[in-house]
Amino acid sequence: DDLAELTARVSVCRACPRLVGWREDVAVSKRKSFADQPYWGRPIAGWGAPDPRILIVGLAPAVHGGNRTGRVFTGDRSGDWLFASLHRLGLANQPTSVHAGDGLRLIGARMIAAVRCAPPANKPSPDERDTCNPWFRRELELVLPTTRAIVCLGKFGFDVLLNALQEIGGTLPRPRPKFGHAAEYVVPVPGGEVTVIGSFHPSQQNTFTGKLTEPMQDAVLARAKTLAGL
Ligand code: SF4
Repeated sequence: DDLAELTARVSVCRACPRLVGWREDVAVSKRKSFADQPYWGRPIAGWGAPDPRILIVGLAPAVHGGNRTGRVFTGDRSGDWLFASLHRLGLANQPTSVHAGDGLRLIGARMIAAVRCAPPANKPSPDERDTCNPWFRRELELVLPTTRAIVCLGKFGFDVLLNALQEIGGTLPRPRPKFGHAAEYVVPVPGGEVTVIGSFHPSQQNTFTGKLTEPMQDAVLARAKTLAGL
């Protein structure tokens, strides 16, 4: 299979009853400010370059963000923050992410979520994380041949990524890499190596409190860009 086929297959996945219920209930009830808009209400596929040099790993779609627009990190504040930074670094063609038809393109980069359906309170259960893992792993495998740097937004995505790299034949450094902002690790994988970089998640919890600043976000993505030779 290839990426297009994977995208088609994941878009109809119903493997997690709690998440299916939540994504679909919210798509019907909607947030008041989006009452006039259709909601996607389904799993969110990876998005961006099919042959990325940088892979960006998030947690899961936001219930009124990606779960509404159908595109990961689109239509919420985390997306606004992230795309502004990507645009400053020349990794996106525009600084805003409004809806799936807004003309936004990633340049040399691709984004995927560790869990593909919006979870209540942004917290997937360990079972849901593991159930979604084959989708994540397969997409990782498909893009790994061109990928040089992987930026993990938050510890959840970092842990899922490390496990998936190991499952597809990567050799994790010992001691096991620890998540931290700008912490980076070289991981040998079949056919080469990738550098995994941690980044605090651009959630409002981090950006409003100053735990994650714009220069900090830019620095991590600039480092990935250098590693990727972009
Ligand atoms: Fe399927 Fe993943 Fe959504 Fe669960 S979270 S229903 S495994 S796409």
